[in-house]
Amino acid sequence: MKPFIYNGLPSRAIFGQGTLSRIAEEVRELGCHRAVVLATPEQAGQAREVLAKLGELGAGVFAEARMHTPVEVTDAAMRHIEEFDADCTVAIGGGSTIGLGKAIALRTGLPQVAIPTTYAGSEMTPILGETRDGLKTTQRTLKVLPEVVIYDVDLTLGLPVGMSGTSGINAIAHAVEALYAKDRNPVVSLMAEEGIAALARSLPAIAKNPSDQDARSDALYGAWLCGACLGSVGMSLHHKLCHTLGGSFDLPHAETHTIVLPHAVAYNTEAAPEAMARIARALGSSDAAGGLYDLARAVGAPLALADIGMQESDIDRATEIATSNPYWNPREIEADGIHRLLCDAFAGRRPTSREVLDA
Ligand code: NAD
Repeated sequence: MKPFIYNGLPSRAIFGQGTLSRIAEEVRELGCHRAVVLATPEQAGQAREVLAKLGELGAGVFAEARMHTPVEVTDAAMRHIEEFDADCTVAIGGGSTIGLGKAIALRTGLPQVAIPTTYAGSEMTPILGETRDGLKTTQRTLKVLPEVVIYDVDLTLGLPVGMSGTSGINAIAHAVEALYAKDRNPVVSLMAEEGIAALARSLPAIAKNPSDQDARSDALYGAWLCGACLGSVGMSLHHKLCHTLGGSFDLPHAETHTIVLPHAVAYNTEAAPEAMARIARALGSSDAAGGLYDLARAVGAPLALADIGMQESDIDRATEIATSNPYWNPREIEADGIHRLLCDAFAGRRPTSREVLDA
């Protein structure tokens, strides 16, 4: 066994169907009495339902969360927090809403309950990305880790098929990079492989029947595991590319992850053989990169950056940004290789690892 360091994260996760009914109990357990419920405008109705369940512990709703946590939205939320005299937040939604809860926690220290309704995984991480004047910065601090996470499978039954597939593959990306992370360790690797397997078997079933409760349950379980991987170890080339494409070219988050992942994995294939074997095994495929591409196709996800708004003329600048200040990566970051990777992802070509080509 190679030496390793494992840091456990202090968070409580409650998993099941109908678990939202525990919300008042969980807020009370935190010693709180005035919870403000956070949501996006699209999920304002769900936020009001949570407020009703909180009864006398509910102080109000702020339903203006937006993608990439703009600081002006956090400023507006802070005015509500003060007005309501809130002593905790309850975020119901995807990574955008949970990001707002984290930004408030960073400024105030207020405890957070997160109720995820996508598979993005932010609820399990001490990571906050914020946008100021169009520039996104990311920080890692335990101050933003939600104290309690309530996973309720019922809340994911209505997640549209398209978003279920891309959000699920966004989760898989965390586990994939955890398997070849510089600071990987046996516990996180176990969670990563199990998380990929749970999502790989459930996402195609959800695409066929979005109300398949067993598949929804498996997918949310996988998302929890993958989120925990993102929270525990460092990410590499794939996440750097997605931050570049999302931040500088305004491409949609989950779709970008879905399209880039097979290509980032193909780039790293030879440098991380053990991780690739585990990814392929979890996917039930002979090839990690090809298996991820096939999964995206099976769930009906977009396969080409050209189809989600990227311009071919952006590839050169994207290469430049992605290769400056790169994250640690198992294979050295070479501009030519990254340019080729982006050309393949732009066109939506199926990547194949060298080993498979040689066979
Ligand atoms: P999102 O939170 O932006 O949600 C997208 C849209 O889907 C919103 O309108 C939302 O209200 C709606 N939605 C959410 N759940 C729904 C459901 N069950 N049914 C119907 N509609 C629903 O999407 P996301 O992919 O979850 O999050 C993306 C954001 O999260 C990005 O800004 C990303 O950077 C961030 N993120 C952060 C971390 C972290 O660790 N800090 C991890 C993952 C993602």
